[in-house]
Amino acid sequence: MSPVIPIRAEAADIGCADAPVLRERGQREVFCGLTGIIWLHRKIQDAFFLVVGSRTCAHLIQSAAGVMIFAEPRFATAIIDERDLAGLADVNAELDRVVTRLLERRPDIRMLFLVGSCPSEVIKLDLSRAAERLSKTYLPKVRILNYSGSGIETTFTQGEDACLASLVPVAPMQADDAAPSLLIVGSLADVVEDQFMRLFDELGLGPVRFFPPRRAGDVAPVGPNTRFLLAQPFLADTARALEARGAQRLPAPFPLGEEGTTLWLQAAATAFGIPQQRFDEVTAPKRERAKRALARHRTQLAGKRIFFFPDSQLEVPLARFLSRELGMGLVEVGTPYLHRQHLAQELTLLPSGTALSEGQDVDKQLDRCRAARPDLVVCGLGLANPLEAEGLTTKWAIELVFTPIQGYDQAGDLAELFTRPLVRRMKLVA
Ligand code: SF4
Repeated sequence: MSPVIPIRAEAADIGCADAPVLRERGQREVFCGLTGIIWLHRKIQDAFFLVVGSRTCAHLIQSAAGVMIFAEPRFATAIIDERDLAGLADVNAELDRVVTRLLERRPDIRMLFLVGSCPSEVIKLDLSRAAERLSKTYLPKVRILNYSGSGIETTFTQGEDACLASLVPVAPMQADDAAPSLLIVGSLADVVEDQFMRLFDELGLGPVRFFPPRRAGDVAPVGPNTRFLLAQPFLADTARALEARGAQRLPAPFPLGEEGTTLWLQAAATAFGIPQQRFDEVTAPKRERAKRALARHRTQLAGKRIFFFPDSQLEVPLARFLSRELGMGLVEVGTPYLHRQHLAQELTLLPSGTALSEGQDVDKQLDRCRAARPDLVVCGLGLANPLEAEGLTTKWAIELVFTPIQGYDQAGDLAELFTRPLVRRMKLVA
């Protein structure tokens, strides 16, 4: 077995750590935070998401998630209609009625999220008070929480952040004398969670828990002996809530690609005193396998230029992966929010001189994209078709959130998500 040399950024090369960022505050083209329900309802298996919103909100959720429903859905919309908007009805009483009916029909629900939307914000419906009021009736059988997925307040992946932040106060307090534990924070596909769990077991690192849990009753205890690793880069509020409980974040890049996964695991291994030799023995075969899977894609992607429109907040880690492990050129890396602290390790690894932008002024950004003529554009659904019609090749950002992409075993699949549109375009042109 060949020795494994941990990858670290050169001491003198700080990549984009101090790079200037173009900040734009114009019109943006991003889904709202309700979208997170599509993957969250599959993650916490006995939770239900009740959107308090309009018919538009109901259509968004149904059309985005409808194809995945195979049994009783675990989300719905309580429609705020004209009478509610005009103040002619007691919205709180109606909401209580809807919740009562729902919980009677669905005794399997153990956690109910009341999810705010643009209309519920416009009529200033206080869902935190509603959740408190309803909890008095339904605890301990059903816990009722609330968060906002409104497009006024949140973009796309911030819905998950708001949901998980609302879950932190529910976490039991960790005992003062508890042994240090590791919490993996952010929704991961079950298959990815299982792979990471096996890796932590092999390393001899534990106890390890995941947040959110698969069952509402399994929320991990949190306290000063909790060390947490973010598995997703869009969890600013959740991280803040965990830190307020005394938990300590382990700074690391995100587990995308072979390098990102290794550095992410390494951060945990170092914090828990796992000997380097053990770490190398456990990770070496998996790293080699991931590298082999990536090599096939590198031949197609190396030298190609990519442009990221801001969408999922995964843009910076993805750009790091594509540039360092697959040799792609970064034309512009746009992200809705650039959290310098959580992305510090990622920014250090980005090639210096990368054009970074935060927020959006969509017309200006489209002009920059058209002028640059990149080989591949990562963007939201609304921009993809018009750009394709102009001869640009696109990748839907939302697919990167729905697909299991973290960890060694998924590194090749992640690369393939970028190879596929290029191959499709080549076939169309040929
Ligand atoms: S929350 Fe707002 S942006 Fe999202 S679907 Fe409802 S109305 Fe539209």
